[in-house]
Amino acid sequence: MKKMEMSEKATVGENDRKRETICIFGTGDLGRSLGMRLLQSGHPVIFGSRNPQNSTLLPSGAQVLTHADALKESKIIFLAVHRENYDFLLALSNLLDGKVLVDVSNNLRMNQYPESNAQYLSQLLPKAIVVKGFNTVSAWALQSGSLDANTQVFVCGDDDKSKQQVMDVARSLGLTPLDRGSLQAAKEMENYPLQLFPMWRLPLAIAFGLTVFFFVYCVVIDVIHPYVTKNRDVSYKLAISVPNRIFPNVSLILLSLVYLPGVIAAFIQLHRGTKYKRFPNWLDRWMLCRKQLGLVALAYAFLHVLYTFIIPTRISVRWRWIHSMIVEQLKFLQRETGKQRLAELWNSKSHNAGVARTIKTLMTFYSIRRSNGQD
Ligand code: NAP
Repeated sequence: MKKMEMSEKATVGENDRKRETICIFGTGDLGRSLGMRLLQSGHPVIFGSRNPQNSTLLPSGAQVLTHADALKESKIIFLAVHRENYDFLLALSNLLDGKVLVDVSNNLRMNQYPESNAQYLSQLLPKAIVVKGFNTVSAWALQSGSLDANTQVFVCGDDDKSKQQVMDVARSLGLTPLDRGSLQAAKEMENYPLQLFPMWRLPLAIAFGLTVFFFVYCVVIDVIHPYVTKNRDVSYKLAISVPNRIFPNVSLILLSLVYLPGVIAAFIQLHRGTKYKRFPNWLDRWMLCRKQLGLVALAYAFLHVLYTFIIPTRISVRWRWIHSMIVEQLKFLQRETGKQRLAELWNSKSHNAGVARTIKTLMTFYSIRRSNGQD
């Protein structure tokens, strides 16, 4: 019995060592999502809040205490509070002595402050060990668990041991921590979430190049060639038909570019006989922008769907318009000329193409009536 208790204690002890208690200051969106993820991965979580009694929507299993009480329970404190509110920490500076304070904050604008939030925090609390990290992960992604596409979290800090501890926490959440060096890198990291389209340049350039290529090709084949060989002016195709031939082609090529690097990578790994070697830079870059390539492909496919819906509408409107024109002209010609005059008109060739078609239709109409014995 004693032996069992001891072995149970040992197991609990081991688990405690593996999954240490994490304190989170702030019970807002990020605090709650992070807390939920930490609890799911086995970390006991203690929230530090201004109003521990009134905190709602917290993940079940988490404790909520005052800031001072919460931080006593853990060595690592995630600060899920906006930089503008960091002042409350001054009253806790002694208690934060030697604690690892993880700054997850972002700003509203690039280079909003002269120094990074993490450096500001470090100046504010010189006794605490500040580590910057997790700021590129959104509360929504943490909560919904949709981190599959991008599991990287950047971490930086001046104290290697503390940085490693924070990176271990990231690993325990199934994330891939990337060491960005000292706290000097924090400013750059805080700008990452504000950078629009960082990996979009290459996919957009490829899409643009392919669009231009297919446009030139389709214009030559569909518009210029009929004009040169048959003197047919089909320039109206430039508006709908030509773009609608370009969109699916570009979309399919982009889609193939999403999957191709994976295949190439697999062949490289087979050839090398290991998967633990770096891919060439060009393949690395290509692999990193697969998501963007896929999204551009989706946009082109959407345009194809849109244009495909427009084409029948355009044909229907055109058909109705031509039909009403022909009916009007037929009525007019029948009234004004009679069939002998029509034949004369036809032979004289002094009519334009529209009238010619109408006369031809009318003559066909007469010949059908004749063959049916109606005339
Ligand atoms: P939030 O929903 O507004 O929550 C902020 C929390 O800070 C509040 O719930 C509050 O918790 C605490 N707080 C507010 N005023 C305070 C004050 N004067 N003194 C002390 N504590 C105060 O914000 P959030 O979205 O969770 O973001 C928190 C931090 O994470 C920000 O720095 C943000 O840039 C960063 N971040 C957010 C996301 C995201 O997706 N939301 C992603 C990456 C990084 P109590 O009421 O419990 O005290």
